[in-house]
Amino acid sequence: MPDAIIRLEDVNKWYGQFHVLRHIDLTVSPGERIVICGPSGSGKSTLIRCINRLEEHQQGRIVVEGIELTNDLKQIEAIRRDVGMVFQHFNLFPHLTVLENLTLGPVWVLKKSKAQATATAMKYLERVRIPDQAQKFPGQLSGGQQQRVAIARSLCMDPKIMLFDEPTSALDPEMVKEVLDVMVGLAQESGMTMLCVTHEMGFARKVADRVIFMDQGEIIEQNTPDRFFDAPENERTRLFLSQIL
Ligand code: ADP
Ligand code: MG
Repeated sequence: MPDAIIRLEDVNKWYGQFHVLRHIDLTVSPGERIVICGPSGSGKSTLIRCINRLEEHQQGRIVVEGIELTNDLKQIEAIRRDVGMVFQHFNLFPHLTVLENLTLGPVWVLKKSKAQATATAMKYLERVRIPDQAQKFPGQLSGGQQQRVAIARSLCMDPKIMLFDEPTSALDPEMVKEVLDVMVGLAQESGMTMLCVTHEMGFARKVADRVIFMDQGEIIEQNTPDRFFDAPENERTRLFLSQIL
């Protein structure tokens, strides 16, 4: 597919002797929304971290927006500029206010003026529905609010691709929905390419174009959400779904 925004070809990765990613082939079209699920330890985080080079693969090719990921730091920087990432544990700077967390990257990396960066930050804080929290420190917010700040922070960098790694799994149950709602809105209102590791099947059914199931470092099965959940083909997928549904 020539217009793929992300392409992985026979990607293999090892941690020491441990073969963590096995022959991963994956092509993502611009604007596509993909949910990745699978048992703990199956390599989901490693896979998406390879896409912005937080982890290095040893074999195969990873091409993002036409740029192949190699050791070339300039190219890694170029890709990271277009790829936002939201982690399970927010990773906000605790000693900076919410607003400062949001303007830091745009001012220092994108060279925006303080006023411009602040205007953009407030726009995204509105979008994740916490403009009133701008002057607080992360520690003063609930987990759900902190995760919404983390999403807003990524959006301030104007990414073309967003990677989410279990963004709701560290949250108390009552806060999961407010974060998922923001992510659903983002999926529906922006044409952004999204890869999301999550076991939130309601979210997958609502926004995913494709669900990918990983086990032991391999992509075992992928399909549209309806087919994936209603008629899984692989025995391991069925076992996994029986445990989470
Ligand atoms: P998942 O996100 O699906 O739970 P991970 O990608 O985090 O899986 O991890 C896959 C496997 O690789 C696990 O067995 C994990 O223990 C191992 N692993 C992850 N990170 C490292 C690392 N930095 N060094 C060694 N092993 C790792
Ligand atoms: Mg993980």
